[in-house]
Amino acid sequence: MTLFEKIAAREIPATILAEGDEWLAFRDINPQAPVHFLVVPKRCIPRINEATSSDANLLGTLLLAAAATARQEGLGSSGYRVVINNGTDGGETVPHLHLHVLGGRRLDWPPG
Ligand code: AMP
Repeated sequence: MTLFEKIAAREIPATILAEGDEWLAFRDINPQAPVHFLVVPKRCIPRINEATSSDANLLGTLLLAAAATARQEGLGSSGYRVVINNGTDGGETVPHLHLHVLGGRRLDWPPG
């Protein structure tokens, strides 16, 4: 099982913010902004580069879950950023697709 599958199975503790049949949102353990949480599918897709057309509905669900949880966390009017890191150059460290949602401060662009 991946780290995030273990969190979804409650084998590893996390601060869970919201959950659906196919996804889970929980706080990042090393936050990079005042609000920083992850949205992960319960079914592991390793990374976005390996997603296929059969994952299209799930990918849409994850985006909507990210937005709904951002609103729940009070970011709806101030704004936020949704990030997917893919592979070595993208900064991916956990090989289980996850959307970062960051907010609560002004974020720089371009990112580092
Ligand atoms: P990435 O570098 O895009 O693969 O992001 C992985 C993220 O998972 C990092 O921001 C980590 O801080 C976060 N992370 C790692 N372990 C945990 C954990 N046990 N609970 C919550 N977040 C975690």
